[in-house]
Amino acid sequence: MLPITLEWQVCPDGVRADFDVEGDKLFYLPRSERRTSRAYNVSDLSSPLVLNFLNSSSTVEKRANFFAAYGLLEKSVCTDDMVADALGVLDKAVKVGPLADHPERIAILNDLLSESTAMHLGFDYLGLNQTRRMVIRPRSLFDLMCAEIAMAAEVDAALTSCENCSRLFYTGHLTGRRNTARYCSDRCRAAANRKLAGGR
Ligand SMILES: [Zn+2]
Repeated sequence: MLPITLEWQVCPDGVRADFDVEGDKLFYLPRSERRTSRAYNVSDLSSPLVLNFLNSSSTVEKRANFFAAYGLLEKSVCTDDMVADALGVLDKAVKVGPLADHPERIAILNDLLSESTAMHLGFDYLGLNQTRRMVIRPRSLFDLMCAEIAMAAEVDAALTSCENCSRLFYTGHLTGRRNTARYCSDRCRAAANRKLAGGR
C-alpha cells in the first residue's frame, strides 16, 4: 500500500469554542494566528486519530481540546454543525466492522467513505534512507481519519470499547493489541484490577 501522509497545521495556543449569536452557530476558532505544522502518517492503528476524535466528542470542551491538539477538521474555522456531521459519518463508518466474511459490508463502507472527497498522489523524500517515494495525500484531517477507517477495515481490526473507561480502541493486526484485549491501556487494566481487588 502507498504511504498515506498529511501535513497539517495545529494551533499551539489552543482552540476555543465561541457562540455566534447572530448566526446562531457554535464555532471552533484558533486562539491566535500562530500555527505549527505537524505530519500525520496512517501506518498503524494503535492510537488512530479517528478514535481519539470519537472519544472526545461528548462535550464542546473535549472537541475544542481535540482540535487544539491535532488541528481543525478542515483548513479554517469550523462550525459545530460540521463537526457533528463529520462525527456522524465517522461513527457509522467505524461501526461497519471487519470486512472478513462480510462482503455485504463493503458497499456500506464504500458509501460512507465516498463522503471523504479528495486524496491526491504526490512525492516526498521520506522513504527508506530519505529516498523518494510516492504517497497518497488526504486533503484534510477528516479525510485522513477516513483513511484510518479504511486501513482498519483492510486489516480486519476489531472495534472494542474499554471495559474500564469506555473509550473506543482497535484490536488485532497493526493495533499493538491482542484480539482479546478488554482494556484500552495498561493503566485501565491496572485500574480495573484494583477495582476487582477492592471489591473482594
Ligand atoms: Zn480505558
